Amino acid sequence: MNRPQAPELETVVMKFGGTSVADADRMKRAAGRIVQAAEEGIRVVAVLSARGKTTDDLLAMAHEVSHRPDPREMDMLLSTGERISCALAAMVINDLGHEAISLTGSQAGIVTDTSHTKARILDVRADRIRDALDDGKIVLVAGFQGVSTAADVTTLGRGGSDTTAVALAAALGADRCEIYTDVSGVFSADPRIVADARKLAVVSFEEMLEMSASGAGVLQLRAVEYARNHAIPIHCRSSFEDGPGTFVVDEHTTMERPLVTAVTHSTDEARITLTGLPDRPGIAGRVLTVLAKATVNVDMIIQNEPHSEGHRADMSVTVPRSDLPAAIEALTPLKAELGVGEIATDRAMGKVSLVGAGMRSHPGVAAKALTVLGDADVNIEMISTSPIKISCVIREEHVKNAVRELHTAFDLGADAVRREDVAGDHRPVVEPDSGDGDA
Ligand code: ADP
Ligand code: ASP
Ligand code: MG
Repeated sequence: MNRPQAPELETVVMKFGGTSVADADRMKRAAGRIVQAAEEGIRVVAVLSARGKTTDDLLAMAHEVSHRPDPREMDMLLSTGERISCALAAMVINDLGHEAISLTGSQAGIVTDTSHTKARILDVRADRIRDALDDGKIVLVAGFQGVSTAADVTTLGRGGSDTTAVALAAALGADRCEIYTDVSGVFSADPRIVADARKLAVVSFEEMLEMSASGAGVLQLRAVEYARNHAIPIHCRSSFEDGPGTFVVDEHTTMERPLVTAVTHSTDEARITLTGLPDRPGIAGRVLTVLAKATVNVDMIIQNEPHSEGHRADMSVTVPRSDLPAAIEALTPLKAELGVGEIATDRAMGKVSLVGAGMRSHPGVAAKALTVLGDADVNIEMISTSPIKISCVIREEHVKNAVRELHTAFDLGADAVRREDVAGDHRPVVEPDSGDGDA
């Protein structure tokens, strides 16, 4: 005879960002949300980030004592921020009468490769988490970190707690992955720059990938990649107010397919220009191989026509500003090897991008975007496109203005939408005292 099956308990991964646990009150509020879910009978794994500006402070501390801090030691240092958050949250939750256990990334079974400060997750061995959940415990996992195949502590790159959360949700077969942050979802532009930015109810993985890759730091790029690869829907929402945030889901599930979905930006780009490169096959490959070996992420690449007087060409690449020292160190030996004329750098570059799945089938977005920037007197230094994105490298000081001009020109604001969509208030909710948003 068939016995009735006990209803399966829901498993939810809840991730709280740095602002959401920045002080004692906020920590208690986050713990309250976790406990509330547990009291509803949900198996909760909470991933916490380092409090407030802790990671920035730890980075500054390292640079105070060392010109180029050793990456392994940097990871030992940076991983402490998330451990503090988890231990404190476990204390709060225990005081609320629930059993909680905090785990480091390593204890949680997050196994990564060995690239310190930007490690990739290779495997999640979540048995210990499962056992603790089976024992009725609330599990708190230190985000942003793991243990490498060489048994060293690693970190997953800035914003990496998002990836920890998604990876755990995948490994545990969680029903939901909720990312609690200091804005109420993913917006049509950074709400700290564009006052009338609109909260997006749903975004496809594909669009979110382009948005994160082009600077929308609200979700880390790798988290979105991981979520898409493992089909984990993400719910990005506010930790300070209730109500739905933004669902990041498979493209088939999204209803909206506007021409342009969002304007994104970044203010931490640097450009490297190699002048007088020999103009022969294999040179560009050599340059990029050298940068890849130094784990420098190259974004845009431009190689121009050879100089008329000889077989020499120039090549420019953009890289994250923080990768500039490593890039220069890696490229310098090429001067002698290839007879490069000069390696010039420009640290004050930024980037503005338009993302939208509708661009694929509608030409003309690029023409309009470039015209808008031209009319705003913004000089475009480099351009790159994908089927659903156009990015322009511009000087950092023009970024804010460029974002606002594009957002208005493409009619992405809350007012524009409120006319069609009466479903509710789309005004951005920005935590009042969490900085001026230039970060
Ligand atoms: P957390 O500490 O919770 O991980 P982050 O600072 O990493 O938070 O990400 C949230 C921030 O992302 C917001 O405060 C906002 O300024 C910024 N942001 C940038 N672009 C967007 C966007 N398109 N939508 C929402 N937030 C954005
Ligand atoms: N604390 C890390 C950072 O500031 C990781 C994270 O918050 O996701 O980047
Ligand atoms: Mg973040």
